[in-house]
Amino acid sequence: MQSVTTTARTFESYAAVLDAETSAAVRDAAGGVECLRVVHVNSTADGGGVAEMLHPLVALSNDLGLDADWQVLTAPDAFYEVTKAIHNGLQGDGDPLTDAMRATYRETVAENAAAFDGDADVVVLHDPQTLGMIGSLAERHPDTAFVWRCHIDLTDPSPAYLEFFAEDLAAVDHAVVSRPAYADALPLSDAETTVVHPAIDPLAPKNRPLDDLSGDAAAAADLDRYPVDPDRPLLVQVSRFDPWKDPLGVVDAYRQVRESVPDVQLAFVGGMPDDDPEGVEVFEAVDAETDDDPSVHLLTDLPDAGVNAMQRAADVVLQKSLREGFALTVSEALWKETPVVGANVGGIPLQVVDGENGYLVEPRDIDATADRCRRLLEDETLADRLGTAGRETVRRQFLLPRLLADYCELFAALDR
Ligand code: UDP
Repeated sequence: MQSVTTTARTFESYAAVLDAETSAAVRDAAGGVECLRVVHVNSTADGGGVAEMLHPLVALSNDLGLDADWQVLTAPDAFYEVTKAIHNGLQGDGDPLTDAMRATYRETVAENAAAFDGDADVVVLHDPQTLGMIGSLAERHPDTAFVWRCHIDLTDPSPAYLEFFAEDLAAVDHAVVSRPAYADALPLSDAETTVVHPAIDPLAPKNRPLDDLSGDAAAAADLDRYPVDPDRPLLVQVSRFDPWKDPLGVVDAYRQVRESVPDVQLAFVGGMPDDDPEGVEVFEAVDAETDDDPSVHLLTDLPDAGVNAMQRAADVVLQKSLREGFALTVSEALWKETPVVGANVGGIPLQVVDGENGYLVEPRDIDATADRCRRLLEDETLADRLGTAGRETVRRQFLLPRLLADYCELFAALDR
């Protein structure tokens, strides 16, 4: 296990984006659990939505009087191969879970549980990668409440994968999911599960106005660094290179759009997080499919300010996922007033209201995806209206202080 150091931030600095009532509610919620010792545990400090949220969440928790810490697993590549299969299996794509995979998983989580250093009131284990630590931790820390925060789509899990976690789930004191339907598969009562929507940090370099950036961040946000032409229409998808994000479906939709908007460009902004071994393979498949097209760009491992600039430069942000726990990328785009065409799966319809702040399409419907992109490219008034509504959706529902308040209320209600 390794401790992650976060950059300090103050609640005051959120004043510009929060109304007085919300600020007071967040302070109240945090005041109810002052000095509570909370440790978050996940599998990576960089890349993907969970790490994205934990950096500011832990920092802000500390500013508001909690005693929060964050630790990440130490694990070999073989573990991440297995946990990616587990992630896929729990999202319904169940390759067989072999004895060797089970052993690799159990061995790594046992080592990490043994190395866990944290005498906490509440431990929040994020996602299946860390869930297997629970039995041994609960035995060693009988006074600690163990929360499992599952960020993935559990609507249709492969039974073998769910069964693999049966004992771990039995030790969970409370589970947190992003939609009520994700809890149906869990052997926990309604009282033992809470729905919490993820959130974005408006003060992060990823989401701040570009004019607020300085130094390296400002340089990274300069569009001249990237191969896109700011004078031509631009479709962007920001996602890990992962089959669930359907990048090849995005290419198909782009090709249809190009038939009526010949100068359209497509950019994939995709990182390769440490805990996602499929990234290289999927990247290569997308690259092979598009390398003869100078209007398609694959931008890997951009700094956060670069992601920010691309989300703002886009005329449409796509999120064409086939399964999706939540998709922070959607709120990130909406916050920047960029309209989103998103698949009607998982957490995307929590954020996109069809025709109001973006469009929802059925996940494999290329024609509809292309049609909605075309409409937005061809009608600036429509794009502006949807973009403005999108920012308001995020301001009301998907900003970090609200997420912190939800956690604090949950912690206060836990039986400890
Ligand atoms: N992201 C990034 N660089 C990339 C691709 C993704 O910083 O090249 C970020 C993205 O902006 C978002 C997070 O990674 O904050 C992805 O979170 P999301 O919930 O959309 O998907 P997940 O990766 O957790 O499935």
